[in-house]
Amino acid sequence: DTRAIQQLDSAHYLHPFTDFKDLNSKGARVIVRGQGIYLWDSEGEKILDGMSGLWCVNVGYGRTSISEAVYRQMETLPFYNSFFNTTNVPATRLAAKLVEISPPQFNHVFYTGSGSEGNDTNLRMVRRYWDLMGFKERHTIISRHNAYHGSTVAGASLGGMDGMHAQGGLPIPGIVHIGQPNYFESGRGMTEAEFGIEAAGWLEAKILELGPEKVAAFIGEPVQGAGGVIIPPATYWPEIQRICDKYGILLIADEVICGFGRLGAWFGSELLGIKPDLITFAKGVSSGYIPLGGVLVGDRIADVLIGQGGDFNHGFTYSGHPVACAAALENIRIIEDEQLVKQVANVTGPYLRRKFASLRDHPLVGYADSYGFVAGLNLVRKKAEVVHDCELFTPELAVGMICRGHMFNNGMIMRAVGDRMIIAPPLVMTKAEIDEMVNKIRYCLDKTLADLQERGLA
Ligand code: PLP
Repeated sequence: DTRAIQQLDSAHYLHPFTDFKDLNSKGARVIVRGQGIYLWDSEGEKILDGMSGLWCVNVGYGRTSISEAVYRQMETLPFYNSFFNTTNVPATRLAAKLVEISPPQFNHVFYTGSGSEGNDTNLRMVRRYWDLMGFKERHTIISRHNAYHGSTVAGASLGGMDGMHAQGGLPIPGIVHIGQPNYFESGRGMTEAEFGIEAAGWLEAKILELGPEKVAAFIGEPVQGAGGVIIPPATYWPEIQRICDKYGILLIADEVICGFGRLGAWFGSELLGIKPDLITFAKGVSSGYIPLGGVLVGDRIADVLIGQGGDFNHGFTYSGHPVACAAALENIRIIEDEQLVKQVANVTGPYLRRKFASLRDHPLVGYADSYGFVAGLNLVRKKAEVVHDCELFTPELAVGMICRGHMFNNGMIMRAVGDRMIIAPPLVMTKAEIDEMVNKIRYCLDKTLADLQERGLA
């Protein structure tokens, strides 16, 4: 019964990324079931999940073939590690599959249990690479403000979220941040193309400030997700690649969100004009059915690590977990069988772009854009012809959170990052379901506007 679960929950469960006071005053909504793009709560209310859980349930809920694959693997071999010269069949088969679907420079995989651990692995791996190359000073990693790269100490340090850095004395030394390529916030007076070059230039400026001989790597998501679905201008990533090449700096693409079809390719790097040395993956690799993450290791690093390295003193109990790898193999089979990557690239992605863009005529929407199956819109107090002239709400009003509340109470999950409302729906979403979702969003935007007007805020 809902009330009993809520009482146990607030008595004992410390939720991640949750305002405890807020949660305890309302009680958590208890999610009990999922099917396709929908969830149901313990009161029987149906919710359209515009966020694929946490950007991960790419093949949708209720896939019995994944639960069967998991069951079979649990019956055969629920666990064995791959430390000290052993392996298991699903981990090895999955590594080969990941290599097959990834860009050609990738021939090796390192497994973790999550995306955060994947980024911790990156930090250790790039430093190990430069040590082995004889450049022991080359340890600094450059990331971007407002990036999310995980919640472990290294992951949160690589991330650029002030709220996370403020708790626990982060970032750790050797990690610095530059601005994010956010055209809406920072591109005033420039075309998108000009702004892309300008924003990439912040990397070169930082490299020169630090001294190129100190810089190990640059890390970024092809399209920044939790930072607000920041879709960079087309000029941005090719320029970043040029700068990394110029100074010999390693490039890490964090594709924890962008991988496995989310942008309309197996990996977003393929679409944005970059050739990374490392790719972090998690989430969509198993559609979240069982936790799994890791790093695709490019030949430049693998050749040195394997060729000269000896031990790489790093790994997790659950690296290459056979059950998680079995789930991922079945998940990837579904994505291939149902041609979900092509579908997002050629059919439903372009349809979502058109439909989502139609929200631009709403009085609250100052800017709206999408890429594949991620999309975002900015809530503004007053619209303007030139997006940079829109009048914004003051941050203290937390209008994004008000809007998120109206969505949630009306059967729609959309996330708020400041006043930017974002979605990342399951890749199985059909055109009819996209229509339904966009209609729901419009309805909830109307509710938000009415609410703000009633409070005298809009
Ligand atoms: N990197 C990115 C881009 C993410 O979005 C996330 C999670 O949202 C992570 C890393 C961390 O992954 P995990 O939560 O599996 O540790």
